[in-house]
Amino acid sequence: MLVLVDLDDTLCNTWEAGKYTILRLIPFLLKRRKFKAFFYILTARYRELEQSREFHMMDLDKIVENLLEKVYAKISPKELEEMQELIDRVFFSNLRLFPDAVPFLEALKRMGAKVVLVTDSSTRWQRKKLEYLGIKDYFDALIISGETGHSKLDPHNFRLARRLFPHEDEVYMVGDRDDTDMRGGKEIGATTILVGRGYFKGRRPKHADYVVRNLIEALEVIRNEHEKRAEA
Ligand SMILES: [Mg+2]
Repeated sequence: MLVLVDLDDTLCNTWEAGKYTILRLIPFLLKRRKFKAFFYILTARYRELEQSREFHMMDLDKIVENLLEKVYAKISPKELEEMQELIDRVFFSNLRLFPDAVPFLEALKRMGAKVVLVTDSSTRWQRKKLEYLGIKDYFDALIISGETGHSKLDPHNFRLARRLFPHEDEVYMVGDRDDTDMRGGKEIGATTILVGRGYFKGRRPKHADYVVRNLIEALEVIRNEHEKRAEA
């Protein structure tokens, strides 16, 4: 059995931690009279970035830096450094594993599954999260967009994960985003399980075989599917 797992908003509360971080940036920007940046955030124009391939390979601090460069011609290195320090501090102090993440990963290991993390963003940022959350050792492989040069908007990283374990004929993809995790899972013939939480919660999925509320339900789906296959 091969289980591909997404990190952000599947195993940990990235969207929530990111939201606090952005909120915390507002007084910082106001104090420095960066009103344009403030309104940019307020009107949520950063949503434009959702479909940007480049965005999926960047850290949160790089994203903010890019946004600010878009809004202002130039931002001083000192201000940038101060802001990055603030982002790191606020983000990591709010980042947590969901309570079902470790029980889910442990159950998969007990079932003898190969578990591969397939995640967007940069190497530095994603590895730092894994270190901080203490879950790196649960994975048989890590596939990070910043390392492969492909975001999850294209099927490359899913194919890569599949090729690492060619003898596993039962494949699952568990994630929170339909147009990346679920679509990519379908590309390699996986059973796709959408966990409805985080930023993308509530959007109607097109590529999910199952929609569940949490990882305990995802585990039930995997167990049932596995039994069905054993009987067949
Ligand atoms: Mg995610």
